[in-house]
Amino acid sequence: MPAKIAINGYGTIGKRVADAVARQDDMKVVGVSKTKPNFEARLALAKGLPLYASDAEALEKFQKAGVKALGSLEDMLKEADLVVDCTPEESGYKGLYEKAGVRAIWQGGEEHSLTNLSFNAAANYADCLGASYVRVPSCNTTGLIRTLYPLDAHFGVEKVLAVMVRRAADPGDSKKGPINAIEPELEMPSHHGPDVQSVLPKLNIHTVAVKVSSTLMHLHAVSVDLRRSADLAQVLDVWKRFPRVMFVSGGEGVKSTAQVMELARDLSRNRSDLYEIAVWRDGVHVVDGRHLYYFQAVHQESDVVPENVDAIRAMMDLEKDGHRSMEKTDRSLGIGIAR
Ligand code: NAD
Repeated sequence: MPAKIAINGYGTIGKRVADAVARQDDMKVVGVSKTKPNFEARLALAKGLPLYASDAEALEKFQKAGVKALGSLEDMLKEADLVVDCTPEESGYKGLYEKAGVRAIWQGGEEHSLTNLSFNAAANYADCLGASYVRVPSCNTTGLIRTLYPLDAHFGVEKVLAVMVRRAADPGDSKKGPINAIEPELEMPSHHGPDVQSVLPKLNIHTVAVKVSSTLMHLHAVSVDLRRSADLAQVLDVWKRFPRVMFVSGGEGVKSTAQVMELARDLSRNRSDLYEIAVWRDGVHVVDGRHLYYFQAVHQESDVVPENVDAIRAMMDLEKDGHRSMEKTDRSLGIGIAR
């Protein structure tokens, strides 16, 4: 019997998680819920997804708009084993999920303290086996963990400084900014470093962030001091073994996030998503064997999607082995084909 998965919040992340779950043979989407009967709600219906309204008030709006919802969030939870919460941060549904007796996954907008368990498939799949509540950290945090975890496992990481150049808004969002400015995040470290430590508690990492007027991707400039000496070929070889890290090359014309996303479009995937973290192969430099510098780009709308699928598998005990879960997820989403 496939695990029954509900998705609360059908926006940027929720839509993608729903599509990814629908591609798995060991889980199925039993419902998606929304606050507003907007175009996304209509499209969910057109795709044949069971649609719910977030509460009684929203249900009335759906009825008035002629968008057929099957009931409220509480009704949806009755159909589910696990809910993936993709609502904006601090929407406050934990009590409702507890009452309904469903497992729950939250996204990176929430604090680690909500679940005390933050997930990355490569780093701590086994810790989340059978867990009731798990958080998948943010897109930036997931991106940092993807490249830093393998480095730490193979060479040991003494110290990391990561400078994050963050996109201002998602492409479908016309409310946020800045549209013509660069905005430093004055908090130090930015929240990303402590967030990485919610999964890799021993990693000595400091992060700095600025926001720029782009919607495509985040870009990270990362400086790592390694404990054990390594050369460039060894570093590249470690990342090569991780399908969720992809190499791109400035020499082959990928000069910026614009071409990374062009490459993603050329992959002809669902929504042109790039689930992998793109590392510039010709931007990786090792100095004196111990100092590693690299650039990576993060597709903020989609890198957390495979992690959500693996988190479901771990929590529902559908697969004990994290590597096998990752392989299954990667196959279903076409991850790793452009390596
Ligand atoms: P979004 O605004 O695109 O989508 C949120 C959805 O939830 C919308 O459909 C909205 O109608 C619905 N919603 C709003 N308030 C609600 C409520 N009270 N109850 C139920 N539904 C409600 O947001 P998003 O970008 O998908 O972000 C969702 C979560 O994912 C956040 O925690 C965010 O931090 C995290 N996240 C976002 C990104 C990103 O780049 N967009 C990346 C990684 C993680």
